[in-house]
Amino acid sequence: MILTCKACGKPYSARTRKGLKYVPEVCSKECFFTWILNSRYTEKSFIPYAEQNYNKNGNFKSPAEVIVFNRFKKEGINVQYEPYILKTADYMYIPDFFLPDYNIFLEVKGKWNYSNYTKFTAFATKLPLFLFDIPFLKRILKWL
Ligand SMILES: [Zn+2]
Repeated sequence: MILTCKACGKPYSARTRKGLKYVPEVCSKECFFTWILNSRYTEKSFIPYAEQNYNKNGNFKSPAEVIVFNRFKKEGINVQYEPYILKTADYMYIPDFFLPDYNIFLEVKGKWNYSNYTKFTAFATKLPLFLFDIPFLKRILKWL
């Protein structure tokens, strides 16, 4: 599918998947970081939904998470692993990463099942929560 880069406006091609609308639509490493900068949320709009996560065990759940965490660190981007528990009346959810300088959450996800996709979208429609799916990771791992 041909998409338009949200940072530079140029067309690029990418595979489409469920949840694509929450995947950053960018064509290059430079555009990825431009997109991050442009996504800066000045207010912590998630606060009504968030609780500190005091129970994180500090263990990454997948190699993809380790890679993403390390690459952000390498780029000098402040990144926290599972620092918040998000809650609505119906769902509780702990996104993988939070970028405190931008007030955005990131979920790194390979396979979805129906219930975790429903949960993800319940929050992604309300909050600055974005998805790194496998096709996106394959692209950005070449860039980061
Ligand atoms: Zn671009």
